[in-house]
Amino acid sequence: MSITEILNKPNLEKEDIKILLAAEGDDKKLLFDKALQTKLAHLDNYVHLRGLIEYSNICTKYCLYCGVRCKNLKVERYQLSDEEVIECAQLAHKLGYGSVALQSGERSDKAFVDKITHLVKEIKKIDNGSLGITLSLGEQTEETYRRWFEAGAHRYLLRIEASNEELYYKIHPRDEKHDFHQRLACIDSLLKVGYQTGTGVMVGLPFQTLDDLADDLLFFKEKDVAMVGMGPFIPHPDTPLWQYKDQIPTAEKRMELSSA
Ligand code: SF4
Repeated sequence: MSITEILNKPNLEKEDIKILLAAEGDDKKLLFDKALQTKLAHLDNYVHLRGLIEYSNICTKYCLYCGVRCKNLKVERYQLSDEEVIECAQLAHKLGYGSVALQSGERSDKAFVDKITHLVKEIKKIDNGSLGITLSLGEQTEETYRRWFEAGAHRYLLRIEASNEELYYKIHPRDEKHDFHQRLACIDSLLKVGYQTGTGVMVGLPFQTLDDLADDLLFFKEKDVAMVGMGPFIPHPDTPLWQYKDQIPTAEKRMELSSA
């Protein structure tokens, strides 16, 4: 089947997606043109800016790829004060941003949960709640998600990072703090509570295949998420995954791994 035929299908099968992901040259141009037409048809010709507030790099987890993992003792840790957060949100509002995103390393202790509840309520006071609030604060209990939602947050981003469980455990330790099924359950809780929920993955991970990426896209569709955050894997020297930095697959290698 040609790329044009695939692009005109109303629903893509996994094999179609793999062909699109591997497209090069003129085929890739057709894919990008179709993506642009789709975007213009649904979202018009605008870019929406979000004000990202990096609240803290203190984290209780130690994902194998992450430079701010708690086991990296070289990192200088910080947490913004309440005043700094509110000032950032006020600036975002003044500059015309429609929403802010509060992002942090993962903590779920009471002091942290209470602090975020307070900050969300304070940000909501700016211009009678006109500023939207997105949170990206990791895995929490459903009760906590609900509490922050009721305080005024309406979007939440929790990337699955790899929807293939096997790949997930190549980039996370296999222990109770980094449980794949727990992470899936958190995404379901967010949807249940009513957040516009976002998820996503890293692209360019060592060991990642075209099959993985195609399955990731089908995973986003199955979960019917409102946002997708995709980011490149950037190796960090103070992490366990650094040792595999030379195994980041090229497009050709990814295809080879997929057909193996
Ligand atoms: S939870 Fe987030 S911040 Fe913490 S180690 Fe994992 S990726 Fe890094």
